[in-house]
Amino acid sequence: MTLLTVDDLSIEYTADEKTIKAVNGVSFEIAEGERFGLVGESGSGKTTIAKAIMQLLPKNGEVTSGSVELTNDSVSLDLVTASSRELQDIRWKHLATVSQSAMNALDPVYTIGAQIIEAIQLHEDVSKAEARERAGELLERVGIDKERVDSYPHQLSGGMRQRAMIAMSMALEPSLIIADEPTTALDVITQDHILDQIDQLSNAVGNSLLMITHDISVVSETCDRVGVMYAGELVEVGPTEEVFTNPEHPYTKGLLNAFPTLEGESDSELITITGEPPKLIDVEPGCKFMDRCPYAEARCGESDPALTPRTPGREAACFVTADGYDLEEHYEQVVT
Ligand code: ATP
Repeated sequence: MTLLTVDDLSIEYTADEKTIKAVNGVSFEIAEGERFGLVGESGSGKTTIAKAIMQLLPKNGEVTSGSVELTNDSVSLDLVTASSRELQDIRWKHLATVSQSAMNALDPVYTIGAQIIEAIQLHEDVSKAEARERAGELLERVGIDKERVDSYPHQLSGGMRQRAMIAMSMALEPSLIIADEPTTALDVITQDHILDQIDQLSNAVGNSLLMITHDISVVSETCDRVGVMYAGELVEVGPTEEVFTNPEHPYTKGLLNAFPTLEGESDSELITITGEPPKLIDVEPGCKFMDRCPYAEARCGESDPALTPRTPGREAACFVTADGYDLEEHYEQVVT
């Protein structure tokens, strides 16, 4: 069953009397128990989507169209129009977040335990002793000694804080966890460990995951399906392995070429995508990737390609591959 339905979501920021179209007509679904990744380079609109889902957009940000329905046996809510009371009711129990910076998310004046206990007691009628016991167990599950329940955030290392944040987000076994660059600030070994924790805990709880990252290896490690974002739009959606082995959008292919192979082999050359994403002010018609796309044709500048179905479960927004053009087959001749 579908848990989250993002439908035709558009979001704008206003800055210096200009309008920035940060997210433009984005639609995707996440099923119950599914892990979905949103990937794309900096500025593509990923965090803006996460903030809109949590109603955490800054004052100069506004959802200009679309809806975000969260639906399961006990909730049916449009998160865009929900009241703060309604959101508070589902927070932790149905919707939790692990954000870029755990230090900002954890309150420095309370112990880790106090914060987890508060989250539990807000939603469940349990004694403080019982909530404390559960907080300790949760910390142990993410590899932190339960004695640390009485530590303040600043007494923990960056990796531990991030794990404490994960423990907290899982405290009420939420239906959906939004993880926005959960490992970016950490060293590689800690990153791996944290991803394992997210993986194991969400397996145990059976919840859905929206993983937001610029790192395709994070998506391939944790997500069943992926949506690739470029300049505020979704350009490709499908099962992670299929998208990453046989991309249908030139931007996805560019992103993959710019990363070391997912297996860690180093024999293939890394090729960065030249040029810059377009400024999202006064947006021209046509494919936004056109100027950087080695496969672009004249028609790509005439109108916006929409996401269209490809093989079952896959969609891509590209006129060229919609005609059956194989990016890999023509790669050498186009790129060299
Ligand atoms: P990153 O990984 O760097 O956070 P992202 O893919 O999450 O990138 P967003 O942060 O969602 O991208 O930004 C999308 C667009 O919106 C960018 O053009 C960005 O400059 C713009 N933007 C983001 N926040 C604001 C803001 N508060 N005011 C004005 N523009 C903003």
